[in-house]
Formats: sequence, structure tokens, C-alpha cells
Amino acid sequence: MGKKTLDLNDALYEYLLKVSLRDTEVLKSLREETNQLEMGIMQISADQGQFMALLVKLLNARRIVEVGTFTGYSSLVMAQALPGDGQIIACDISEEWTRVAKRYWKQAGVDHKIDLRLAPALTTLDKLLADGQSESFDFAFIDADKTGQQLYYERCLMLIRSGGLIAIDNVLWGGNVVNPEDQSEDTRAIREFNEFILNDDRVDISLVPVGDGLTLARKTG
Ligand code: CA
Repeated sequence: MGKKTLDLNDALYEYLLKVSLRDTEVLKSLREETNQLEMGIMQISADQGQFMALLVKLLNARRIVEVGTFTGYSSLVMAQALPGDGQIIACDISEEWTRVAKRYWKQAGVDHKIDLRLAPALTTLDKLLADGQSESFDFAFIDADKTGQQLYYERCLMLIRSGGLIAIDNVLWGGNVVNPEDQSEDTRAIREFNEFILNDDRVDISLVPVGDGLTLARKTG
């Protein structure tokens, strides 16, 4: 006890949700609809969503950039945690998935806070930088193609203010990061990124074993 993070078996995870998850009908419906999709596994867990909403409030965030929106669960929970004049720039390339997202953002009454940019995320991030928006964001969530992670991270680091936070998803990759047999491009990119950020003194870090592993990186300078 106490030496390592607890293994969460099903019963314990159920308990965790029972005593901590503050769910709503709209969140539940979006999770259920997304779970029907072939790629539904890409959706963050409900408890991770609530954790991220708490981070948004702790940061007093007003501006967020999200790289990888999918069906909009993370942007929805973060938008709900933002003040009325808060804004999320949401980057994705899929019209099909973000159509689901838009429906739920509207239903939850947060659609005015989310500015969806349907384009390769690098294009959108570079445009924000070119428009002079460096250091103007409080929080960045990176949850897109894993081979692009490093490039997204570098841009997000420029976009967030000093003391701002970047959260990078899937850093434990279903446990595959420690499977030597797995030499897929995605897995290798995640391992390389994890090893890189350990020694990146531009940020304070913590790898939180929530969901599929979430690294939090706070910009120091
Ligand atoms: Ca993810």
C-alpha cells in the first residue's frame, strides 16, 4: 500500500465513479452515442472529463486550445467549466465526428464558447501563432494523431501563457508503451515523447494515471 498507484479492478472503478462522478443527461447521452461508433474507444472517460473540468477551474482558464476534438466530449466538459466569456479553439479534421460534437455543444448551451476549426491542427496552430496569439491561452489539451504529438506540443507551448498547462492524452497507450513487441509508429512516437518531456525543463510535469494516462505540463518560464 502506498508505494504505487492502485490497480483499479472493475468493482473499485465502479466505486470511484459512484462516489465522485457528477454526471448529467447530456454528458451521458454523448458518451453513449460515441460508444456506438467504431472509434468510440477514442473518447476520454467520464472521470477524466471531470478531472479536466476541475483543472480548467483551478487555472481560472478563459482560453483553451484543443488538438483533436473527435465527438466533442472533452471540449464539452471544458466549455462547461469556463466562464461565460471563455473560449475554446477546437481543432479537428473530421466533419463526421464533429457534427456529433456540435449537436451536443448546442444541447448543453455551450456552443457559443467553442470555435471549431476544421483543418489540420498544425495549420490552425500556426495560424494562431502568426496572428500574434502567443502566450494568450491558459490551457491546451492534446489528443490527436500520436506521430504529430511533438509538433503540437511545441506550438501549444508557445500559445500558452507562463503558468499555463498542457495536458497530453494517451501517454500510457493501453499499456503498450512497455510492450517491446509493439514497435508501431504511434507507440514509438508516444515513448519518444514521454522520454523527451521528462527532461524538458521548460515545464513542470506529472504523469497522472487517469484514463489512458494523462501528462500534465505546466509552463515555467
Ligand atoms: Ca485520447
